[in-house]
Amino acid sequence: MFGEGILKGMAETARNFFGSYVKKDRLTTVQYPEERLPQIEAARNFPFLVYDGQDWQQGLRCVACQICEKECPPKCILIQKSADKKPDAVGKPQFYPAVFNIDISVCMSCQICVEVCPFDAIKMDVEYDLPTDDRFGGLLFQKDRLAKSNEYYHQIHPTEAGAVDSALAAERAAAAAKAKAAAEAAAAKAATAPEPQPVGGEKK
Ligand code: SF4
Ligand code: SF4
Repeated sequence: MFGEGILKGMAETARNFFGSYVKKDRLTTVQYPEERLPQIEAARNFPFLVYDGQDWQQGLRCVACQICEKECPPKCILIQKSADKKPDAVGKPQFYPAVFNIDISVCMSCQICVEVCPFDAIKMDVEYDLPTDDRFGGLLFQKDRLAKSNEYYHQIHPTEAGAVDSALAAERAAAAAKAKAAAEAAAAKAATAPEPQPVGGEKK
């Protein structure tokens, strides 16, 4: 029938309009910013840096390898590698980013930095509410703003964060087992090494 589609559309609009007074799921808008829609787990916006433990400076997983900086298509990441090493969250001496900036006004949320990071140090955030009247400085995020805890990562992407934790735990266990085996082999070699002979023909 001519116009049937229009009538169906108007009927659906009317059902939503009047239904919204009695049923919450018929209300298709929310009163932002007082109300917000729940984020789905796959949502992503801009990157953040993950840290382990309580101290964000010590716990940053980033070792300033600069792979993400090189691979970022619009070149909105700036990293300066530290000159020294500091113990990371598990006590291993590591380089760290003396400077780690992301220009959020340029970032296109492509997630390539996340894909290329070998250390699971950078992940995508779901935060989208970033208004500022400082067009440049307010959108240049430095590492203190980028650093967010692993607990936060679990809150926003629980499945992904759980998988990352398992992979990191397996990697650390393998590294610990390798170090232990090497230490045992070195101790065994030292125990079976011949006693040093006296020099200069001295007799006991
Ligand atoms: S999400 Fe894409 S554009 Fe944004 S910092 Fe990462 S690589 Fe660069
Ligand atoms: S975030 Fe990952 S890829 Fe980027 S510098 Fe740090 S460790 Fe390297």
